[in-house]
Amino acid sequence: MGVMFMEKKSSRISGFYKLPVAERLEKVADFADLNDEEKKIFLRNGDVALGIDTEIADRMIENVIGVFELPLGIATNFVINGREYLIPMAIEESSVVAAASNAARIARVKGGFHASTTDPVMIGQIQLLNVEDFEKAADTVRKEKKKLLEVANAQDKTLVSFGGGARDIEVKVLGEGKERMLILHLLVDVRDAMGANAVNTMCEALAPIVEEITGGKARLKILSNLADKRLARAEAVFDKETIGGDEVVDAFLEGYRFAVFDPYRAATHNKGIMNGIDAVVIATGNDWRAIEAGAHAYAARDGQYKPLTKYWKDKDGNLVGSIEIPLAIGTVGGASSLHKKAQLCRKIVGVKTAGELAQVIASVGLAQNFAALLALSTVGIQKGHMELHAQNIAVMAGAKGDQIDEIAKRMIEEKNVRIDRAKELMKELYGIV
Ligand code: NAD
Repeated sequence: MGVMFMEKKSSRISGFYKLPVAERLEKVADFADLNDEEKKIFLRNGDVALGIDTEIADRMIENVIGVFELPLGIATNFVINGREYLIPMAIEESSVVAAASNAARIARVKGGFHASTTDPVMIGQIQLLNVEDFEKAADTVRKEKKKLLEVANAQDKTLVSFGGGARDIEVKVLGEGKERMLILHLLVDVRDAMGANAVNTMCEALAPIVEEITGGKARLKILSNLADKRLARAEAVFDKETIGGDEVVDAFLEGYRFAVFDPYRAATHNKGIMNGIDAVVIATGNDWRAIEAGAHAYAARDGQYKPLTKYWKDKDGNLVGSIEIPLAIGTVGGASSLHKKAQLCRKIVGVKTAGELAQVIASVGLAQNFAALLALSTVGIQKGHMELHAQNIAVMAGAKGDQIDEIAKRMIEEKNVRIDRAKELMKELYGIV
């Protein structure tokens, strides 16, 4: 029997960005062991293949007329909890993938990202109205908790067989006078699922029983997207010499503090985080509206909208960053099981559980935010953005192939990146109007 030597795979692929699309796919296929059939799902004879065909799309939503594409890029350089990751990102905005890769390259110097998650506990809510005695009703619910949890768990034996299931029930009273309501929180460990269907089914099954034991009327029965019991955290040290020394670290922290004090700035700060998070969430077939709703509600949990990341200096003057964010994402269920590219993106990122995917996503959010703040507090955001932006403008003006780089280069040199100038250049250089 031969001995297998495992080559250690690295996400640090130098010059990746300079390769043609098909060669990049080869590198990623090597890293993630994609076979020829799987490669064809991304590129077929040089053309983009579909992750879902219209037949599947027609079953997913209503009134389908086609499918809608986004660019899919790969963030390189990520080391998370000592493991190398290539991370798929589906996004239309230029510079995001490059910025994440660049931040991950800097984080590698000090060992990359360290990430963790809580148990994947989602909250389902049942709203009870017309309750006569709120104290008594709340007590009854608490007394009947064991039975209620059993009923909830009987709804999803599969989830229970994977080690998940309803764990606890909490009760609270909201409102005044006639508007008073009793709210039940059903806490469900949803393991590798996003959990919305699982939790909603449980809440709907419990509602008639809760009505019976409390004498109230159940109105809404639905998952909460403020998934604050399902948190992902990541932290990284950014070496001060690599980012430009003490002055840059100080400038960075000054820029960060602006977001701490001001919701107008914090909204943009968090938008930058979501640039990275949404892109991975979409690429892996997850519900990005759920993630967005959860993230922003969590950012405002103290009454003031705050940044989702924190930054400080370590004893050696290096910059340390951390993120804490609710991440209701799944690796089973939902659209993720129907979309071939989403399945392959999960294969590329190489995660075994939803928790591991959440750790990766939180790390990307931190990387994205670090990259944006570093650019903003030093050279400004436009410099990095300009190159790809100029290329986009060139394409809009009708440039093709090599013309795109040429027109973009000239507009950047002239510091005049505008569609009218791109059109003029197309005429001057190529006689195309
Ligand atoms: P789902 O019901 O398709 O799949 C989850 C089920 O898969 C579990 O209930 C379980 O029975 C089974 N399963 C198999 N292996 C498992 C494992 N290892 N871990 C956990 N479960 C396993 O999907 P879902 O996650 O319950 O719901 C997600 C969908 O619900 C998304 O498409 C989302 O867009 C949608 N949705 C969201 C909201 C909201 O966010 N408010 C509301 C309604 C629906």
